[in-house]
Amino acid sequence: MTYNKSIEAFDEAYKVIPGGVDSPVRAFSGVEGTPPFIDRGEGGYMFDIDGNRYIDFVQSWGPLIFGHADKEIEASVIEAVKRGLSFGAPTTVETELAQEIVEMFDSIDKVRFVSSGTEAVMSAIRLARGVTGRDNILKFTGCYHGHSDSLLVQAGSGLATFGTPSSPGVPADLTKHTLLATYNDIASVEKCFADANGDIACLIIEPIAGNMGLVPADEAFLVAIREICNTHGTLLIFDEVMSGFRASLTGAQGISSVKPDMVTLGKVIGAGMPVGAFGASAEIMSHLSPEGPVYQAGTLSGNPVAMSAGLTSLQKLKANPNIYKELEAKAKRLTQGLQASADELNIPMVTEVRGSMFGFFFSDKLVKNFDDALANDSVLFAKFHKGMLDGGVYLACSSYETGFISIATTDEMIEETITLASKVLAEIK
Ligand SMILES: *Cc1c(COP(=O)(O)O)cnc(C)c1O
Repeated sequence: MTYNKSIEAFDEAYKVIPGGVDSPVRAFSGVEGTPPFIDRGEGGYMFDIDGNRYIDFVQSWGPLIFGHADKEIEASVIEAVKRGLSFGAPTTVETELAQEIVEMFDSIDKVRFVSSGTEAVMSAIRLARGVTGRDNILKFTGCYHGHSDSLLVQAGSGLATFGTPSSPGVPADLTKHTLLATYNDIASVEKCFADANGDIACLIIEPIAGNMGLVPADEAFLVAIREICNTHGTLLIFDEVMSGFRASLTGAQGISSVKPDMVTLGKVIGAGMPVGAFGASAEIMSHLSPEGPVYQAGTLSGNPVAMSAGLTSLQKLKANPNIYKELEAKAKRLTQGLQASADELNIPMVTEVRGSMFGFFFSDKLVKNFDDALANDSVLFAKFHKGMLDGGVYLACSSYETGFISIATTDEMIEETITLASKVLAEIK
């Protein structure tokens, strides 16, 4: 494969866009080579401007559960576009999409639409603080909740320490209200609650973490955090921006007994258009402006084109209840194939699958939290990534990302990927 046009495009982009990209992970910093510039997608495939074809396991980082350029979603978007791109006034398609979500999620009576996952989580946190009258929030190292100030707190020295900002430009005065605990470690959560005298507005968690690789929370852990939140009057927020409509139709809460107080959504809900949402009980949502005093707004919120894409997508998912079993079967075939190739070559590998989400680490250690994830062999991953890309398989360009199967990912694509992987692993070993 040659990447001449992409290399040129990257150089041009670099002159006018910081790092040449509009979101840092796209820059291929953790792997070899320059990022292919994409021309178009078709089903399970993506084509770059040099004409290279890739089997796509990134799917725009999650949203494209029907693959690229799905005909029905495309038709609904074009329909909406013809009537006008935006009005800044209510449209019935917002209510229709809200009705679908309310019907699917037991924990949601009312939902507000925004334009990104970041915005959804930022707004949910403000609402949680407004409802409880408390400032402190608790998050887990390795969980990503978008790039808003309070949430941009990294893995640090760890347990129950008050957070320090992980980016210049984020005031320490703000992140001092963000407590950090260790994923799947209830003792670290208990310590945070003890340190803060229980004065915590909300505990936010990716119930299936997808931003440190794929690391699901143990059911017993979720049960325990639900209990501790109940004890202290702390609101439990499930950030299902990634896992919603991915792990199951209703995300992690569809496969766990634990129900959150608030939910954030994004990615699949917009089917590739910029959409986020946050929802909760009618009581909690009544605190939100204009019903209540907690302010939140957006010029393009509930954009009718984006809502149409989301509505068509969710209706298609709901109409085919077996979809998630099929997606999970494909994901398992893929990870089992990768695992078998690695085992044969004595390369340590651990894998996970939840619905259409899959993950693998070059590690001999079961990954339960961010420190475990950091123990993976990211140098080997970088070589693997390059070999796969050159062979026509597009994987996320970091060992801390989740892979995605779409409905357009065929069995043949899975087989081709496994065959290529065993060849690449033998070469880079
Ligand atoms: C992607 C993601 C976000 C941020 O969503 P954006 O649309 O990128 O702003 C928040 N939380 C989780 C769990 C995510 O995976």
